[in-house]
Amino acid sequence: MSPQDNLPFLEQQLAALEPEARSLEPDARQRAEWMAQLQRETDAFIGGLEHGKAYRKAGPMTGILESLRQMTGPVPLDEVLYELREGMLAKGLNPASGGHLAYIPGGGIFAGAMGDFLAAVYNQYAGVYYGGPGAVKIENELLRWLCRMMAYPAGSLGNLTSGGSVANLIALVTAREAHGLQVSDLAKCCIYLTSQVHHCVHKAIRIAGLSSVRIQTIPTDSHFRMDSEMLQRQVAQDRMAGLRPFLVVASAGTTDTGAIDPLDAIADCCVANGIWFHVDAAYGGFFALSRLSYPNGKKVSEVFRGLSRSDSVAIDPHKGLFLPYGLGAVLIRDVASQYKAHYYRAAYMQDAFAAQEELSPADLSPEMTKHFRGLRLWLPLRLYGLAPFVANLDEKILLCRYFYHKVQAMGLETGPYPDTSICIFRFAPPGEDANEATRALLDRVVDDGRVFLSSTTLEGQFWIRLAVLSFRTHLSTIKICLEVLQNALNSSKF
Ligand SMILES: *Cc1c(COP(=O)(O)O)cnc(C)c1O
Repeated sequence: MSPQDNLPFLEQQLAALEPEARSLEPDARQRAEWMAQLQRETDAFIGGLEHGKAYRKAGPMTGILESLRQMTGPVPLDEVLYELREGMLAKGLNPASGGHLAYIPGGGIFAGAMGDFLAAVYNQYAGVYYGGPGAVKIENELLRWLCRMMAYPAGSLGNLTSGGSVANLIALVTAREAHGLQVSDLAKCCIYLTSQVHHCVHKAIRIAGLSSVRIQTIPTDSHFRMDSEMLQRQVAQDRMAGLRPFLVVASAGTTDTGAIDPLDAIADCCVANGIWFHVDAAYGGFFALSRLSYPNGKKVSEVFRGLSRSDSVAIDPHKGLFLPYGLGAVLIRDVASQYKAHYYRAAYMQDAFAAQEELSPADLSPEMTKHFRGLRLWLPLRLYGLAPFVANLDEKILLCRYFYHKVQAMGLETGPYPDTSICIFRFAPPGEDANEATRALLDRVVDDGRVFLSSTTLEGQFWIRLAVLSFRTHLSTIKICLEVLQNALNSSKF
């Protein structure tokens, strides 16, 4: 035995280290003190949201967040909370604000945060059924609930992901495996999508090794929805030319305008031609739960019906179910293909293979060890049931319609009647450059900061977007938004 490994000496060293190592386990008194401080902090934060700004111009950072440079801890929690408040929360966009009406607003319901807190304290292993049967059961039950919502057949599954980007990636990798694509096939394969598809789909195509596939961009109609007749025509033409139509990516709620592609007609084309039908419903999917109708009498839920005929769907609970950032889902009809694309075997995992009552997330996604992210959805659904979520979704659609009519009455030009909860509009004073006038209008809104809007360019035209999806956005918020816009118009040089 070497002198360092002399047992009494080892014991002596261990005795010296243990008190400090144990300090990572605070006692009950310390936990109570920290929890009380956290509660005060979050109460003040939530209490300040209603009258606080949705956007504060980001000046230079103050240096508060550089405190790790010297690594001078331990620092009391009060001081750390101060650093976060002053260094992080005081600038830029406040995504927790109901005035966040830009991009696709996220959520952050408190019950979701409670789920995250519990998931971190329990630290259950949600990757593999053998280790975390309860946690995996919870995640798979949530996926089966989502599959039923899509009217997918029993036996469908998917994966709870960090967000829509990874959900789309898993779907594309699964489609690739299901069709058994080899590198030598790629040049003949075609993917069909529109200019309105989210950029993460292009990213997923690249990451999935499908860059040399032919991308056929299908034209959109006046509502920015995929023109299904043009799709039919392109697929027929490609088949005639000896190409291999492989995948259609449709959107159920585009990011620019919230448009829903004609899913049923696209499904017809995919079924007839043996094409994998993927729907990116990251933003819009949960509006399938809406009880509302469009002015023409058609029910909102009806335009989502074609989802049930897709092969895979990406849907984001951190958007449409108002959860904190970090929860997307991919739903896949043919779980065998998903498994084939993602399972693994390793000698050190041999104990885990036996138990197969549930498929393991680690065999259905690129991840292994992961955050037990299902609990942030499970807890709110158990606590509230579904009703308040559906009420929020209907409220968001109606708020967008209210805004659409009001903004027209103010003399602004709008895009198509909203399919979901996004409204685009622009300022086109006679004889002026509408793009420039609209950009100037948006600048004034952002300067005011009470609400936050963003812009996009469609066919060369600059449009402002209003996207209503925060659970904290209500009629009073939209009225403030209209007031801010009216003030901006009144002080406009046009
Ligand atoms: C937000 C969004 C995505 C990307 O999802 P993340 O959760 O941000 O990764 C993909 N598609 C659409 C339509 C989206 O709105």
